[in-house]
Amino acid sequence: MPRDRFPIAVVHLHVPPDQVDWNRHPAKAELYLQSLEIWPDRISAAIEQALSTIEDPGESSRTQQILRVAEASAGYGLDRTITPAEETPLLELRALAQVHDMYIMAEHPSGMWLVEQHIAHERVLYEQIRDRWNPVPVELPVLLEGLKPVQVEQLKRVGLAIEPFGENLWAVRSLPELFLGRSDGVAGLIELSLAGDLQGAQVAVACRSAIRNGVKLSLPQMQDLLDAWQGTKNPRTCPHGRPIFLRLEESSLSKYFRRSWVVGKSHGI
Ligand SMILES: [Zn+2]
Repeated sequence: MPRDRFPIAVVHLHVPPDQVDWNRHPAKAELYLQSLEIWPDRISAAIEQALSTIEDPGESSRTQQILRVAEASAGYGLDRTITPAEETPLLELRALAQVHDMYIMAEHPSGMWLVEQHIAHERVLYEQIRDRWNPVPVELPVLLEGLKPVQVEQLKRVGLAIEPFGENLWAVRSLPELFLGRSDGVAGLIELSLAGDLQGAQVAVACRSAIRNGVKLSLPQMQDLLDAWQGTKNPRTCPHGRPIFLRLEESSLSKYFRRSWVVGKSHGI
C-alpha cells in the first residue's frame, strides 16, 4: 500500500507451499503465487460469500458505513466536483499542452485530465526498476569510495555483488539492468546504499531519474510519457502515495457551465 493508505479488508490465503514462488524478490519481501489465474475467482467468491452472510439491513448499512469511512480516510483531497478515481481504464489520453512546465493537459473521451509530469514518470520508472531489478554481472566493476559498513551491508541486501577493493574502496560487480551504461551510476549506488529497504531504494532511484517539474516537454514527449504511464500497473498514485492526476469529467463541466439548462435554446449548443 502507498504510505498513509489503508486496506479496507485483508484476505487470508491458505496456500500449499508448492504454489508459492519464493525466489522473485532478492530480499524475499514479496512472494508470488503460481497459477495466478485461479485466484481472482476464488477471492471474489470468498468475498461475496462473506458479504452475503450479512443479510440483516442494520448490519449491511453498517458494512456500507465501514466502506464509506475507509474511502473517506483514503481521500485524495480532490475538490468535490471532481469524480474520484474509479475503475475506468486509463486509456485514450491525448496530450494537448504543458501547463507551468509541470502538468500535462490531456483530452480524454470523458473529459479533461491534468497529469503531473514528474510523478507520472516516477511511476513508470519505478515499475520498470521493480520488475527488472535482478542484478546482472558487469565486466567493469563500479568503484565506490569511503562507504560505511552499513552502506556495504545495504548494497548486499538489495542483491548486489560488492567486495573490498583496496584501501577504502569497494568494487560493485553486479548491477540492476537499468543501471547499466548510466553516467550517474555512482551517485545512484550511493543513494541505494543509504535507502532503508529494497522498495525505498527503488523509489529513490526512480525519483532521481524521473523528469523534473519545470522541464519543458514537446508534444510528442508528453504523449510518450502519457502512453507509458497509462501502461503501468498502478497508475493512480506515485510510489509515495501521492495522486498523479486530476480528472475533470465532462459531466461535471457541463454541470458547472449549467449547460443542461439551455439545451434547445441558442446558447451555442
Ligand atoms: Zn519524486
